[in-house]
Amino acid sequence: MSYKNFPMVPRVVFGRGSFNQSGEILDPKRLNVNAPFIYLVDDVFKNNTWLLSRIPLAYDDKIIYISAAKEPKTSQVDTLVEEIILKTKDKPSGIIGIGGGSILDLAKAVSIMITNEGEAKDYQGWDLVKNEAVYHVGIPTLAGTGAEVSRTAVLTGPDKKLGINSDFTPFDQVILDSELTKDVPINQWFYTGMDCYIHCIESLNGTFLNAFSESYGNTALGLCKEVFLENKLSEVESQEKLMMASWHGGMSIAYSQVGVAHAMSYGLAYLLGTKHGVGNCIVFNHLEEYYPIGVKLFKEMIKVHNVEIPQNVCANLSDEDFNIMINIALNLEPLWENALGKSWKNIITPKKLKELYQKM
Ligand code: NAD
Ligand code: ZN
Repeated sequence: MSYKNFPMVPRVVFGRGSFNQSGEILDPKRLNVNAPFIYLVDDVFKNNTWLLSRIPLAYDDKIIYISAAKEPKTSQVDTLVEEIILKTKDKPSGIIGIGGGSILDLAKAVSIMITNEGEAKDYQGWDLVKNEAVYHVGIPTLAGTGAEVSRTAVLTGPDKKLGINSDFTPFDQVILDSELTKDVPINQWFYTGMDCYIHCIESLNGTFLNAFSESYGNTALGLCKEVFLENKLSEVESQEKLMMASWHGGMSIAYSQVGVAHAMSYGLAYLLGTKHGVGNCIVFNHLEEYYPIGVKLFKEMIKVHNVEIPQNVCANLSDEDFNIMINIALNLEPLWENALGKSWKNIITPKKLKELYQKM
């Protein structure tokens, strides 16, 4: 048995207003005046002077606004890299992602593709990246995915949705300023928060569970319950605790895996473009059979916050559509093995998956 030797985010700042320290954190990392910092910023912040005025632009530094309406694509990474290489005099000093999981993943992928040849799709998988990435910083504005700590940058490519998993993927620096999450709309807050909750349930109920994952998973689960179930926290406390839940949830799956909800949600994402947070909620809502206690609590959380989970998203699909989703889901073998054990193929069949999708 050989155990995995994982890199972790080496530097992290936590605190309300810590975004103000970006300048002092980045300054020493500037390679030279021709090597700019490139900020990839969620376009929800365009015209938002409260946030933008605190981005410490100098020399040729640039902000590129990015829509998170769709999940990041490999082609989008390639286009961004080309644009950055063409427009900067020297290789950038750093790539800084400011946004939710979509923008954080883009920042990670772009920083990798600046120093590695070929196209982003060539690196979807495990340990395919050869060269160290450009210095990259993650500043989340939405909490739950764990993308700020994880070793993957999830991308949709021409034939699969799969992350660039590598030792060079994790951020060199993360800034956790919960104030940046204050204006997230409630539905989005819930969907992305539930991504974290589902990470915990899938990790804690998986066959890959070990003390490392369990300790992080239990911590994250406790925080999720405080935020989504008990409803006794102030807004600031709730935002801070959800940020830490996201972090611990991400750490928990680093040393285990996600499970049924994620596998099936990837199918929805690939075929219908359903976004990760809401997609997980759509699926998880129908997984009592696999996660009875987790799903029961999830339904209570929906009630407490009175959010809508979309229904009937698979109502008008053809057999061919179902097959596409089923194939995408079944290909994620480690997720099934974690969820159901080594003989998962006896439990989960294309027919079973179709029945489940038909309920959604
Ligand atoms: P997101 O980044 O897709 O953003 C969702 C919406 O929230 C967007 O409309 C965005 O503009 C908006 N938003 C973000 N911050 C806001 C703010 N402060 N105020 C108002 N609106 C704001 O959402 P997400 O759920 O954080 O990320 C989903 C993505 O993360 C998916 O692409 C998924 O594949 C990826 N993911 C990655 C990992 C990983 O480990 N790398 C893990 C889970 C999910
Ligand atoms: Zn997830």
